[in-house]
Amino acid sequence: MEKKLKIILEKCPQNHKCPAVKICPVGALSQKEFNAPVIDYDKCIRCGKCSNFCPKQALILEEIDVNS
Ligand code: SF4
Repeated sequence: MEKKLKIILEKCPQNHKCPAVKICPVGALSQKEFNAPVIDYDKCIRCGKCSNFCPKQALILEEIDVNS
């Protein structure tokens, strides 16, 4: 199983500075104004720090089945 970070837009209130942007150790999250953060998949190492941190659980490290 591989993992992929996903943003659940419906769970992100998009009205504040995303605290998870600073938590990411590789700078894979960025945010424009108060929009939901954007994931740079080339940088993301799927560590799960942001998904564990987001109080709204808007960032999910999802298991994906590469065989299906
Ligand atoms: S899973 Fe880790 S590397 Fe990827 S965006 Fe979140 S904190 Fe950054």
